[in-house]
Amino acid sequence: MDTDLGPNAYTSSAWQRRFRLDGKVAVVTGASSGLGVAIAQGLAAAGADVAIGARRLEMLGETKARIEAMGRRCVAVETDVTDVGDCDRLVAAAVEDLGGCDVLVNNAGIGGDYHAATDDPPEHFRKVVDVNLFGSYWMAQAAGRVMPPGSSVVNLSSVMALTTAKMPAAGYSAAKAGVLGMTRDLAAQWGERGIRVNAILPGVFLTEATAHYSPRYQQAIIDARVPAGRLGDPVEIASTAVFLASDASAYITGASIPVDGGVLLL
Ligand code: NDP
Repeated sequence: MDTDLGPNAYTSSAWQRRFRLDGKVAVVTGASSGLGVAIAQGLAAAGADVAIGARRLEMLGETKARIEAMGRRCVAVETDVTDVGDCDRLVAAAVEDLGGCDVLVNNAGIGGDYHAATDDPPEHFRKVVDVNLFGSYWMAQAAGRVMPPGSSVVNLSSVMALTTAKMPAAGYSAAKAGVLGMTRDLAAQWGERGIRVNAILPGVFLTEATAHYSPRYQQAIIDARVPAGRLGDPVEIASTAVFLASDASAYITGASIPVDGGVLLL
């Protein structure tokens, strides 16, 4: 809960405290690669201990080592977010090993392949929704059962929730738009409990998910769609996640924040 309101809010130490997560425990899904690694490190840099989950335990171990090298505690749990029991176990590990669950970042996601709607295999559409939307909900349910007042849930949606990239990606767009609906509903449900729920809409960031983009294709995206004139850096998602997790955003809930260099303007 925000305790730094009033005339003392603007002292240097109180101001810095607004953006800090000291004494908090954060849970991050999909922290074995890409944006999830950056988010986990950003939360740790702000003072949080971090529980991380993904399917590839060896890569999670690398993230764990980075967080521990920063002087924070970390527990890594093999987690498939489409499995409700796995989601419960990840949150339980945060509570039992690190002492609680104050922040959840629902980052795990898959882009899926591109299929024209008339050729999209049902299993592909189901899988994309299963990981991106259902997985986020199972995690939010598990965390929402134990989160104290002052907690924060941050959901990774996408600009694809609100626009298209002229790619046939109905499942991904639908799942990420669903994440925004879920964000609003949970924010309304949990407002009285002092739990905030917000979403980040990333534009284009080079990660494992986008590693197949050729330099020529990257430049074409920038020229056509990115007013900022460059792709995003994962640290820019991490800093937004820290802001939404911290008291600096204590009066923001149910919001969807683009971190996209202006993609949604065009
Ligand atoms: P990456 O492919 O680099 O990372 C995705 C992460 O999700 C991996 O750690 C992966 O771990 C995890 N994951 C995938 N499926 C599951 C599952 N079933 N259970 C648990 N974890 C899973 O992608 P990004 O870092 O680029 O993406 C992170 C998030 O940001 C996603 O939600 C994505 O949709 C969103 N996003 C990314 C954008 C970009 O430009 N990069 C743009 C817009 C949105 P593992 O395989 O070990 O399970």
